[in-house]
Amino acid sequence: MYTRNETRCITVGSVKIGGGSPVTVQSMTNTDTRDVQATVSQIQSLTKAGCDMVRVAVQNSEAAVAFGDIRKQVDIPLIADIHFRHNLALRALESGADKLRINPGTIGSVSKVREIAAAALERKVPIRVGVNSGSLKKELLERFGGPVPEALVESAVEEVDILDEMGFHDVCVSIKSSRVPDTITANIMFAKRRNNPLHVGITEAGTLSYGTIKSSCGIGAILAMGIGDTIRVSLTADPVAEVLTGLSILKAMKLRSMGAELISCPTCGRTEIDLIGLAEEVERRASSLKKPLVIAVMGCTVNGPGEAREADYGIAGGKGFGILFRKGKVVSKLPEHELVDRLFALIEADEE
Ligand code: SF4
Repeated sequence: MYTRNETRCITVGSVKIGGGSPVTVQSMTNTDTRDVQATVSQIQSLTKAGCDMVRVAVQNSEAAVAFGDIRKQVDIPLIADIHFRHNLALRALESGADKLRINPGTIGSVSKVREIAAAALERKVPIRVGVNSGSLKKELLERFGGPVPEALVESAVEEVDILDEMGFHDVCVSIKSSRVPDTITANIMFAKRRNNPLHVGITEAGTLSYGTIKSSCGIGAILAMGIGDTIRVSLTADPVAEVLTGLSILKAMKLRSMGAELISCPTCGRTEIDLIGLAEEVERRASSLKKPLVIAVMGCTVNGPGEAREADYGIAGGKGFGILFRKGKVVSKLPEHELVDRLFALIEADEE
């Protein structure tokens, strides 16, 4: 386990962020918030996928009214995402927002920020300050010569300081760039300067395939430094894919243990079994398992038995057959077509 950076703990509805709490996964709806039914339905899908909290855009007063209706229909903590208009932040708080995502510097005046901070403090609702490379102030861009990590961090510190000076300290921070190295550097730099919990992600990461790679590299690298308290994978895709990817990143980093983890070999000239087909079938069937366990699906007797023995369950392939392992012991030698069924029969029997 990584040594986690010590951060302040904030509470978002029923979920804690920071202070050593488990790293959480969040996503954002992409329905029109004014369409209450569609938004509720998407939030339910995100919840089912394992999302810990959901952000919803509150882009105008109709959306602020809808936010209240949505709040009444779902249990998961909801974050109201607001830009520029302080009255929308106040409305969202009245409607039961569990967290606000605002940038104090864009709200317009100190008195308006103060009003939001006072209302949030009264309701014990934290605020996330989000700094993106695409929306840095002109003054910072000029001072640092572009959206470099130093400029991103300076912007985040300025935003946090505005709230700190008002006595509002439950502030989560995100510093995101579409450039992975800049995001990593900026998060490391910020973590050295402030103890606010960090919401980590790569902004505008891209479509499902490359966006997943960029997010995994960036978020994974930051988490590996012990930094990061909640994550959001930003994909040009169904938000459910963001949640599944986020959970997989946490699983791969050993920061959350849930469901099955598949270990499978890349296949090579020694493979004499349909290993790709077997691994895909095992992964598909294992996706419904809730208990954390490791399943190894290996192609031959070179590395196969070793990995299969280390895992909770394993298959080591031969020529048209495979050896089934459980907790390091050989269970049986089976024809290829029986392997997956027998593996899951074994898992189910052990779960009973
Ligand atoms: Fe090749 Fe065997 Fe290694 Fe798979 S486990 S890649 S089949 S040597």
